[in-house]
Amino acid sequence: MTVMWTVKVVGMGLVALSLSVELLSRLLRRLRPERSLNEVLFFPSEMACVEHIFTPSSPYSCFCSLPHGVETSFSCLLRHIMSASSTLDLCVFAFSNMDLSRAVLALHGRSVTIRVLTDKHYSAITGSQIGVLRKAGICVRCDVGSVHMHHKFAVVDGQLLITGSLNWTLTAVQSNMENILVTEEPDLVRPFIKEFHRLWTHNDPAH
Ligand SMILES: [Zn+2]
Repeated sequence: MTVMWTVKVVGMGLVALSLSVELLSRLLRRLRPERSLNEVLFFPSEMACVEHIFTPSSPYSCFCSLPHGVETSFSCLLRHIMSASSTLDLCVFAFSNMDLSRAVLALHGRSVTIRVLTDKHYSAITGSQIGVLRKAGICVRCDVGSVHMHHKFAVVDGQLLITGSLNWTLTAVQSNMENILVTEEPDLVRPFIKEFHRLWTHNDPAH
């Protein structure tokens, strides 16, 4: 009888202990702020196929000569851009990269609201994708100032900032030494949203 009693007490004690450990860890999880995304990408990017990012439903359907199933700086960048579900605000000096253009067009096809702000002089050069985006019905505004609109940043869904030295060109992605910072830190994202809004309004052709 005494042995049974001891077993019961020890058992109940163990249950109580595990419950309090669980409760304590839940409490600690609540107190600790959710970690937001922070990532740094360096370029030039390794060359690899990115088809699976555009067609995730059939990831093994591409037979091109590039390596497959390799995550690179560029594939990470593409994924972040393609993660947009409501808005993409893009402010970029040079935009001629076909894959990035395809990503923006794909988002447009998914009814993501896209605004592109770019440099007037660069937008007219051969290979620029700005005309393609415009033809697809994407809202594009060119900087009307006398100095270059030299920014290279994008804000995804009003909460993810992509910024750095990288222009949206093939040379920048494949040949240049460039960097990109991807962050959800509100203190960093907010000023970029504000600056985008300021530039977007300032370059309204109706003004
Ligand atoms: Zn491929």
